Amino acid sequence: MKKPDARGYFGEFGGRFVPEVLVGALDELERAIESAFADPAYWDEYHAVLRDFVGRPSPIYRCERYVADVSAVPLLMKREDTNHTGAHKINNTVGQALLARRMGKRRLLAETGAGQHGVATATVGAKFGLPVDVYMGARDVERQALNVHVMRLLGASVHSVTSGTQTLKDATNEAFRVWAERVEDTFYVIGSVVGAHPYPYLVRELQKIVGVEARRQVLDRYRRLPSDVVACVGGGSNAIGIFAGFADDPQVKLWGVEAGGEGGKSAASLGAGTIGVLHGSRSYLLQSADGQVLPTHSIGAGLDYPGVGPEHAFLKESGRAAYVSVTDAQALEAFGAFARSEGIVPALESAHAIAFARKLAAERRAGDLILVNLSGRGDKDLAR
Ligand SMILES: *Cc1c(COP(=O)(O)O)cnc(C)c1O
Repeated sequence: MKKPDARGYFGEFGGRFVPEVLVGALDELERAIESAFADPAYWDEYHAVLRDFVGRPSPIYRCERYVADVSAVPLLMKREDTNHTGAHKINNTVGQALLARRMGKRRLLAETGAGQHGVATATVGAKFGLPVDVYMGARDVERQALNVHVMRLLGASVHSVTSGTQTLKDATNEAFRVWAERVEDTFYVIGSVVGAHPYPYLVRELQKIVGVEARRQVLDRYRRLPSDVVACVGGGSNAIGIFAGFADDPQVKLWGVEAGGEGGKSAASLGAGTIGVLHGSRSYLLQSADGQVLPTHSIGAGLDYPGVGPEHAFLKESGRAAYVSVTDAQALEAFGAFARSEGIVPALESAHAIAFARKLAAERRAGDLILVNLSGRGDKDLAR
C-alpha cells in the first residue's frame, strides 16, 4: 500500500480539514512519524511490547464446524481476540504511546465511543506512565459502564460529553477542542484510520502487523495465499491492518463488511453514504442532503460511526476492495452460531465479518481459502 501524497490524500480522499491552531501540531506529528519509522530502535521497541505485553503474534485458527455444513473450503480466523485487552486496538495505542514519548509529550488524550479505544489508551497510559484523559459521550458513558470502570481503574480520567447526541461524534468534537488548547504537551491518540492527515497513515502502519503476520502464517501452513480476506469496517482500522498484508497480491480479494443496522438505520458509510468532510478528512459519510451528519445505528458498538477512513473510500473507488453489509439480526445469529460451533465468543463487530464469510464460503470452490480478521472477543457484549 502506498503512502498518501504530500497533502495527505489517497486519490481524492483524506487531506487535512482542521482549524489553523492544529496545523502546526499535525506537521510536528508528521515529522515525528518520519523520524520514528526510519529508526530501527522505534520498531524494535514496538515489536518487543507487542510480543511481551500484547501477546503477539496472534494465532490463525482453522474453523472446525462453523461452515462445515455448507462448504469444504478452509475458513481461517486471525485471532486478534487473543490480544491483551481483547481486540486489535492495542496494536495502535502501543505505537502511538511510543511516539508520544519520543516527542516528549507528557499526556495522552483520546475520544471513545464504545470504550474499547479508551481502554486500549488507558492501558498504554498506565504502562508508560502517561496521564490519560478520555472524552466520551454521556449516553455512551451510561451504555458502556463496564469499560468506563476499567478505564478509571487503569488511572484514566473519563470526561462525559453532554453536547449534541451525547455519543462518539460529539466526544470527538470535544477532544479536538481540548487538543487545540493543549497541543504543546498533549498527544492525541486516534483510534482508527480516520481523522486528518497523517493519522489515517499512522494508524494503518501500526495495524499492518495483523496482515503481515497473517500472510506469513497462511503461507507457512497452506503453501498458498487466501482467495479472500474479510474484515468488519467501522472506522476501518482492523480491515486496513489485515488488507495491508495482501494489497500487493492482486489475486487476493479484499472484503470490507459494514454494519447494515436495522429498520432503515445503519452505519454503512461506504454503502449508503456520500462524499463529504468529517473529523478532519474527506471520505464517505452518512449525511443528509444539506450536510447534517445522520444518526447511525449498529448492534456492534464499535461499528456505530457515521464516517469511514479515507483509504477505504479510495480502495472502494479503485475497485481493489469490495464493501458489503450485514444487518444486526444476521450478525447476532452468527455471534451465537460461531460461539456454539467453535468455542469462541466473537465481538459483535467481528460477527459481521463472520456472517459474511459463511455466505462467501458457500460460494467458493475447492482450492480457495478464506481468511477473516476476528477483530475482538465478545465478553464486552454479554451484558446487553
Ligand atoms: C473498535 C472495534 C472495531 C471497529 O473499528 P475499526 O477501526 O473499523 O477496526 C471492530 N472490532 C472490534 C472488536 C473493535 O473493538
